[in-house]
Amino acid sequence: MTAIPTVTLNDGAWFPELGLGTYNLRGEEGIAAMVAAIESGYRLLDTAVNYENECEVGEAVRRSGVPRDELLVTSKIPGRHHGREEAIDSIKGSLDALGLDRIDLQLIHWPNPSVGKYVETWKGMIEAQQQGLVRSIGVSNFTEDMLTELIGETGVAPTVNQVELHPYFPQGALRAFHEAHGIRTESWSPLARRSELLMEQILRELATVHDVTPTQVVLRWHTQLGSTPIPKSSDPDRQRENADIFGFTLTDDQVAAVSALERGRLWDADPLTHEEM
Ligand code: NAP
Repeated sequence: MTAIPTVTLNDGAWFPELGLGTYNLRGEEGIAAMVAAIESGYRLLDTAVNYENECEVGEAVRRSGVPRDELLVTSKIPGRHHGREEAIDSIKGSLDALGLDRIDLQLIHWPNPSVGKYVETWKGMIEAQQQGLVRSIGVSNFTEDMLTELIGETGVAPTVNQVELHPYFPQGALRAFHEAHGIRTESWSPLARRSELLMEQILRELATVHDVTPTQVVLRWHTQLGSTPIPKSSDPDRQRENADIFGFTLTDDQVAAVSALERGRLWDADPLTHEEM
């Protein structure tokens, strides 16, 4: 079993340097995949109301036999639940679906600027935290300006901003902003959903140098940037491969060579224009 290192968030909570994405993991097969990941050492499971698998995530937590305090579950408030009261109701709905009495990290899934309620939603999450429904609160897909607005309006900085981040879109400016404000970066689609990324020559070369796989090079790159990747895999062997990245270190030049693959967002999901309800 791989021991995944942890970092401390700005609210004092511990947080793994790598977690499991669960999008599309559903039903008994999905539960089995999540339990296998926990058995391999994963301690962070990333779900959302909109993934329609919170029941499966809660069941995997229970079946794993790992003490509840050693596992972290992330869920996310969808756009249709934005608003102060609505956010609290959404969290209660997630707790019911999960069958758990606490969510460890609650995120706003997308800012949906045309709805204009992400600050109200954030205030609802602060209340939910005070009520003990959630441990840590954060956001997803927020820009620097949106983060500045949340902090200015409430004095509470998100612990985490989960954003599209992979070698084709390294998010240098946003990561620097996070670092300056004590916000942990979390990478969604860290493998660029596989695409052609894993065939890139530089990744194959670095994999040979370190005697690892191109996937492991990419995931180690994320952690060395100071971001927590949440690769999704339904396959226990690939899950183990993805978690086994802490036994080698890329040099600064090698990190820079991976970042040089930058070409921009892959799915046109600019939070200023892309909205999800
Ligand atoms: P991803 O993790 O970049 O890629 C997943 C794909 O890579 C799957 O097809 C998986 O196939 C394959 N894969 C995994 N490990 C592999 C390996 N070692 N070798 C070869 N292929 C491998 O993409 P993602 O699922 O879009 O993103 C990860 C998680 O981020 C999601 O599950 C979700 O939790 C989160 N997310 C959040 C947002 C947001 O807006 N906040 C948006 C998108 C995603 P197998 O399953 O067959 O292994």
